[in-house]
Amino acid sequence: MDCLFCKIIAGEIPSSKVYENEYVYAFKDINPMAPVHVLVVPKEHICCADEVNTDNSIYVAKIFEAIPEIAKQLGLTNGYRIINNCGEDGCQSVKHLHFHILGGKKLPETLA
Ligand code: 5GP
Ligand code: ZN
Repeated sequence: MDCLFCKIIAGEIPSSKVYENEYVYAFKDINPMAPVHVLVVPKEHICCADEVNTDNSIYVAKIFEAIPEIAKQLGLTNGYRIINNCGEDGCQSVKHLHFHILGGKKLPETLA
């Protein structure tokens, strides 16, 4: 499968890793939209939020268990934003489920 994030998880493409466990991999976004911009991805290939189901939802649970740890590690003591883009209308550009963690400053209220 030709998936950018699967290759990053496998170490075939370099990334700036910030966190890893059995289920989850997190790394710095290559084009940061905030002082802190990290992507959190499942180690299993799941295309998008629309493909989450009872068989694979443990990966989503593990991601959301990891996020507070990652946020703490990144020094996001005053809050942060989690974003998931899904499908064409959601402007998802990489078709491997991922959650953006954005923070490090007061973010604008409006949708970007
Ligand atoms: P999406 O638009 O699919 O929600 O977000 C994809 C994100 O992946 C974008 O923020 C983009 O900057 C990031 N990205 C794309 N290619 C790479 C890459 O090769 N390495 C890293 N670290 N991030 C990438
Ligand atoms: Zn993948």
